[in-house]
Amino acid sequence: MKTYRCAVIGNPIAHSQSPALHEQFAREAGISLIYDKILSPLEDFETIVRDFFAKSPDTRPIHCGLNITLPFKVRAYQLAEQHTDHAQHAGAVNTFYLNAKHQLVGDNTDGIGLCRALMQHGYSLKNKRVLLLGAGGAARGALYPLLQAGVRELSLSNRTLSKAQQLIKPYQSQFPITLLTPEDFSTSAPFDFIINATSAGLHDETFTLPTPLIHRQTYCYDMIYGKPTAFLHWAAQHHLPHHDGYSMLVAQARESFARWFGSSSF
Ligand code: NDP
Repeated sequence: MKTYRCAVIGNPIAHSQSPALHEQFAREAGISLIYDKILSPLEDFETIVRDFFAKSPDTRPIHCGLNITLPFKVRAYQLAEQHTDHAQHAGAVNTFYLNAKHQLVGDNTDGIGLCRALMQHGYSLKNKRVLLLGAGGAARGALYPLLQAGVRELSLSNRTLSKAQQLIKPYQSQFPITLLTPEDFSTSAPFDFIINATSAGLHDETFTLPTPLIHRQTYCYDMIYGKPTAFLHWAAQHHLPHHDGYSMLVAQARESFARWFGSSSF
């Protein structure tokens, strides 16, 4: 039986749950996998990635895939020799593998993981009004998959409005995407989904949005996981269905695993 080697690379990396997730997927798929955590010094990221794949495909175990986490996702995008559509739109890479020509392919499974997670919770995005909070890397990765999922309207809101404006620009001519400013809050129709892609929950203790933005079934999703955030507390106070980002973490990892070993492994 062939043994494969994959890893997640970041700085810091000790907290990463990727090894446990991928080892579980490998067990389910009957694949022999060693999955490491690589702590990369900031200046060595590109060298470590190149060295990792230089060992493939002749060494055993076969070095076949890398996950990339903070703070290297944009540098990973720059390092990739080929980009998938999702990576191109996100401008960031969380998954590396080699193509048949041995070129380094950069993919991004964060946004598709989010959409899959929402589906697994029983929610379809089709024809729905969605409010996405944030304009950082996570929001950027989520935009294109959300638009592709057939939402009726996607509104983006961010503390720094200019960043949100910049993010929606390339999509405005093709998709129903708008900027939602605080001045729009009182006049906007309610949303079916509110997705929090800000890191505010890591430190903020309070969160509020005006009630005209919600209806009784507005589904709230916080990308942060493993911590009760102010956003989820606010959703609970308003008796809105809600989940934290753990399901997205698992789903994006599953998508990466499928890139390396084929979706038929599931
Ligand atoms: P970035 O640092 O790139 O972006 C942070 C975003 O949060 C910006 O839009 C920033 O606004 C906003 N923000 C930060 N603090 C506040 C605040 N106090 N009030 C309002 N807005 C605030 O981070 P990422 O986009 O990479 O990650 C965002 C979150 O998503 C992180 O907590 C991360 O853990 C989580 N995440 C979860 C994943 C999962 O699989 N579940 C995957 C990826 C990310 P501004 O532009 O004004 O600074």
